[in-house]
Parts: sequence; structure tokens; C-alpha cells
Amino acid sequence: MSLDYVSQSFEKLSQHIGDFVLSSDIVAYHAVKRRIEDVRQLYLAWIKVYQEYRRGFEKEGLTRSLYPVRRLLSSLGLWVEESFFEVVRFRLPVELYLLLEEYCQRFELSSHFVLAEGRGFESHSVYYEISEELEKLTAPRPVGTQADTFLTSIKEHDYNKMYYESGTFDSPLTWPLLLHELFHSVYDKEKLARLKLSSNATWLPEVVVDLYAATFFGPVYAVSLARYHERFPGGGGVSHPHQGPRLFALLKYLGDMMKQKDVFPNAVQGIISTAFDITSGIWTQYSRERMESQDQVSSVYSEIKEPCLQLFQSKGIEAFETSARNDARAGITFAETIRYFELGIPVSSDPRMLFNALLVSKIEPRPIYVTESLKKWYLSTLWYKSEHEIAETLYSG
Ligand SMILES: [Zn+2]
Repeated sequence: MSLDYVSQSFEKLSQHIGDFVLSSDIVAYHAVKRRIEDVRQLYLAWIKVYQEYRRGFEKEGLTRSLYPVRRLLSSLGLWVEESFFEVVRFRLPVELYLLLEEYCQRFELSSHFVLAEGRGFESHSVYYEISEELEKLTAPRPVGTQADTFLTSIKEHDYNKMYYESGTFDSPLTWPLLLHELFHSVYDKEKLARLKLSSNATWLPEVVVDLYAATFFGPVYAVSLARYHERFPGGGGVSHPHQGPRLFALLKYLGDMMKQKDVFPNAVQGIISTAFDITSGIWTQYSRERMESQDQVSSVYSEIKEPCLQLFQSKGIEAFETSARNDARAGITFAETIRYFELGIPVSSDPRMLFNALLVSKIEPRPIYVTESLKKWYLSTLWYKSEHEIAETLYSG
């Protein structure tokens, strides 16, 4: 029995995915391009799995089950294409890759990730997607094919897809939420599930992830989550707890920052109070909901703060509260970053400084400004690293 037409449609899919020309923004950064090319290979292997299925079915004398098999094979191709284009047609500035890459290195995480446009902030891998797809099979699996060989190669070279909610592509204040997904990896790698906490609610990991991300990135992370929930009340999907407890936990963090406010430069004090006001304003709408969860959440921040700072310290990473204390040594201060922003001049500030500074600017943060600033920051880190290397080579002999 021939399933030629199915084979042809799989061929077309392969061509569509294989020939797709990457945008000049992606090609501009070698590391980003390499990643996307790797992922393209995963999707091409995915189609090979389907071709193996088709070949297997062809060898079997299908009669009664032919209809479901045809239906299955034709529908199989639909998702792979969509899933690939989520990666190559993403609309966030490609410079965010550079930022996440830097943080992956600092936290010693696998850098096998790509950004993808989706319906919310979440992540899963390409292998997970194809496994899900194959799980849905109602027809029997054909025997004697090479499908497993291709599947194993996808598993071995797998990439994590970090999704952002498509509507947020042009609102820089939401971008720090990408860190939530990154800190899920920190949570897994550092076995934070072993932290001794007074609550064991199922959604507790989410709150811990938020608090680690905020402690690292600063008050703007809390505002990102608050603003996102303001736009999508009840959002966050099934895996994420109600916004009330999550924002409440972040308010505890911001409350702690408020207490030690005096040790920070004036500009940072303004950032902390603004973040506190915005977050508590949005949280107040939920303050009467899920009171029992709030009780459970209230002590989490004080319980994780020490272990969190210790983890950062062990990796030579400064928490926001440490790095923001004395910003004069950073070259460009918070106050200058804010001033440059209002003048529209891109600045090579540390990204944490940049995003937190956006909170107190008198004008709406423009994506192009943030993108250009990240570019400058990236180039200056490259410059710094190469200068450092040259110095080491010169003086090593
Ligand atoms: Zn999460």
C-alpha cells in the first residue's frame, strides 16, 4: 500500500522548515544563529520520525485501520511546522538572548534554550513536544522502523523553548518575566525543593522561583509580574498559583527592601518605593482572596532569603541588594541611567540597572531604547573580556 501523498507532504514540510531564511537580527549574532540552526535540525529529525511511521505503515497490509492511519499521518505534520515557526518568528529583540545566555553562564545552567512566541510565559523542550504528539496516537505504532533512532537523537540534542506571551513583545517591563523560566532551571539544578520551608503547598516552587528571580534581578521583577497579572487577571495557567499569593510573596521581598532603603543611593530608593507602590496597588485587589494561601506564603521570603544569598555568593553573583548599594563603582550609576533614558541615549548599564531604572522614568519605556542599550552593554562586556584576555596573555610570560 502506498502512502506517497503523505510522504510528499512531509517532504514539503521539511523544505519549508529547512529553507526558511533567518532574519538578519538572528544572523548578526553567531551564538544565536547557531542555536536556531541546532533547533532547526531537531525539527527536521522530527519529520524524519513521521516519515519512518509512514514507511512502517506502508509495509503493513492496512485495510480497516487505513482511515485512522491516514488521518493520523496527515494531522501529524501540522504541529511540527507551527512549533518551529514559534522559534524563528519570535518578535522580542534578539538581544534578550544575549542577556539570558549571560545569566545561564553565571548560574552554570545549560545554554540549550531558544525563545519562542506563545500564549504565556512557560517553557518545555522540543523532545517533550514530539513525545506529547506521539502519545496522542490512536493508531498502532508501526514496527521495524528507525523512528526511535531519530527520537533518541532529538532527546540527546534537545533544546528548551522559553515562551513569552505574544502580546508582550513590545513592552520591556514584561521581559524580566523570562527570568521566571530561567530560575525554574536554577530551582532544579540547585535542588531548591530540599529547602526546609514551613509550607509544602503544591504551588510553593513557583513562589520560591519568583523570590529567587526578584532577589537577583531586583524590584522590577515584582512589577513585571504585577503588571502582567493586571493585564491577565487569573492568568498564569494551571501550573501557576493564583496571582494573590505570588504577588504577596514578592511584596514581602519589597517590604524587606523598603526597611533597608536608607543604605541605597537616592535613585534606587525611588525604584524600591515605586515598585512597592505599584505591586501593593495591584495586589490589594486580591488581598481578600485565598487568605489561607497568603498565610502560608507570608514566611517564605524570610525562610529563603539566607539560602538564596548564600547560593549567589557561592557562585560569585551579587544579589540586587548588594550590587545596588554602591553603584558608583559600576561606572554608570542608576541616576545616570535614568537620565540617559529620558534623553533617549542608549547606555551600556548593567541590564539589572537598566530594567530597574525604567520603573522611575517619566516616559514610557520604548523597546528600541532597551534593545539598543542591551546591544551597547553586550559590546562593552565583549570588549572588557577581550581586553582582559589580552592582558592575561601579555603578562603570563
Ligand atoms: Zn513557573
